[in-house]
Amino acid sequence: MAMPLILGLVGCDAKDNSDNKTSNANPTSTSNTRSNVNEDSNVLSNSNVTSNSNPTSNSNEVKPASNTNTPSNSNKETPVSTTKTNVVGKTTKGYDIEKIDGIYYVKGILIANKSYALPSTYAPGGLKSEFTIAYNEMKKAAKKDGVTLSVVSGYRSYNTQKTLYNNYVKRDGKAAADTYSARAGHSEHQTGLAADLNKISDSFGETKAGKWLANNCYKYGFILRYPKGKQKITGYVYEPWHFRYIGDEAVNLYNNGNWITLEEYLGIDSKY
Ligand SMILES: [Zn+2]
Repeated sequence: MAMPLILGLVGCDAKDNSDNKTSNANPTSTSNTRSNVNEDSNVLSNSNVTSNSNPTSNSNEVKPASNTNTPSNSNKETPVSTTKTNVVGKTTKGYDIEKIDGIYYVKGILIANKSYALPSTYAPGGLKSEFTIAYNEMKKAAKKDGVTLSVVSGYRSYNTQKTLYNNYVKRDGKAAADTYSARAGHSEHQTGLAADLNKISDSFGETKAGKWLANNCYKYGFILRYPKGKQKITGYVYEPWHFRYIGDEAVNLYNNGNWITLEEYLGIDSKY
């Protein structure tokens, strides 16, 4: 299987979350993460993962991007409370599909997959606050269990994704690229609500950190977005490193460790 090693390191925008506003730490600034990045760097010539690390920083937590007026998907009331004029269809599970400012929501969850694209103008500019707040909580809990979490790729802009995808197509061909890389507008990384954690590697799911995440992330509102054996449903190969923040609904997808995909849960497609 082609290894989607490069996925995101480009455009990683995680920042420091300490009270010191001048700090510019990157969550990848720990030595542990650097080694991960270096291992992946054979396919990553333009990574900026380590470019903004700050050796004087006293924190490696992530900081939310500046707030936007985009509806939060952690607040189920937000899109649901809007008028019915936003409803553009129904899912096979009977949920309304809403379109607000060009962005699709089902059950208040922002959708970005092969069937539902984000506008090129949707650009939170970094990981959104609901992601980072929950992530920092999860990171603390992981640490108590002896697991160090780091963001290796967070937000990616529409244009960054476009470049990435086109490079993969050149390298592996379109059919292969579509199994592991999203076309511009279709990437969850553009949402500011998803990130690649620790190590972009198929074997990550077998590591202590990979197992910890798969078994605990839902407690903090995250889902394992592309579970094993669900490629026909999600449109993507297994990605044990890619986590998406959806809020309270996450527990319903966890399913005692037998992850249900977002597509199955909501009754939506992911197809070009
Ligand atoms: Zn990812």
